[in-house]
Amino acid sequence: MEKKTECEIVQDLLFSYVDDVLNTESKKLVEKHLTECQKCQEKLIEIQNEKNQQEQNQKTQIDYLKKIRRKNKIKSFLWAILILGILFASWYLYKFSIIYKITRKVEEQFVGENFYIEEISNCEDDSLFYNKTWYKDGKFKVVSYRQKEEEIMQMPTRYGNMRENPRELYFVYENLKEVRKEIFIDEGKKEDVISANSTFLSNARKEEFGKYYMLMKLGEPFYVKISTDHKNIGRLYYVFDFGESKKWVDMNTGLPIMSFGATSSTEYYGTTKIPKSHFESISEYHYEFETVTDEDVQMPSFEGYKFTEYDQQEELNRLLEQYPNPNK
Ligand SMILES: [Zn+2]
Repeated sequence: MEKKTECEIVQDLLFSYVDDVLNTESKKLVEKHLTECQKCQEKLIEIQNEKNQQEQNQKTQIDYLKKIRRKNKIKSFLWAILILGILFASWYLYKFSIIYKITRKVEEQFVGENFYIEEISNCEDDSLFYNKTWYKDGKFKVVSYRQKEEEIMQMPTRYGNMRENPRELYFVYENLKEVRKEIFIDEGKKEDVISANSTFLSNARKEEFGKYYMLMKLGEPFYVKISTDHKNIGRLYYVFDFGESKKWVDMNTGLPIMSFGATSSTEYYGTTKIPKSHFESISEYHYEFETVTDEDVQMPSFEGYKFTEYDQQEELNRLLEQYPNPNK
């Protein structure tokens, strides 16, 4: 009877014993009893096992929660990357699609073999710069001059035929009564005439640029800002902001309407790269299609003109003789 009571007491204390929270005296009592009682020993093992099981369960649960938390972190990170990626792709594709669309429209405008391009720039130094191009069936004429007050600075009028090979280009200095003829060994393209008149239209030169063109096209959306406006002309146009220059581009035709801050002319000191004059300008563009006549592109007779010839191949040969290729 007495022993049974001790068993009950010890068994009550066993939980605290396992948790190691008994005072020294009780602990001694329990340990002494355990050495003598098989039943209580079994009970102790049972309690210990239960406790271990419980701890194991708890640990598993904590591990599980940690795992979920880690998974959630990775998930949020991937979502953030995905969302940023989508935002970036939409930003890029939006601009790329506009540039692509505009380029296609420019090409559509110039499918024919008859067009007139006019660029008039109002320069910072109060001069006006004119650049006019007539093109019909391969033949072209380009007239450029700068006008300041009464003074007109005439640049040579250029005549040529893009369909000839070799291609002959005539620079006519009307005031000097001189003609300089240059021979190009390759056949030219209509696009060269277009792009020579406006850097923006050079978008139409994709065959010419090949891979470089593609890189240029792919890179452009990164640095150009594109918006729309309808100021002053009463219809919507795109505003292409290149930082140092801005261009208004007609939405329907893809052709430039105005450009701002473009450099109309840069001269250099001697053969250096030090600019002598640099003009900011506001340029206006005009286009006409199917209005150019044969007379517009007809070369004059050059009677009484001094004639000089410049052969690209001859000049190349001369330079090669003068500066032999060091790699050979
Ligand atoms: Zn016992």
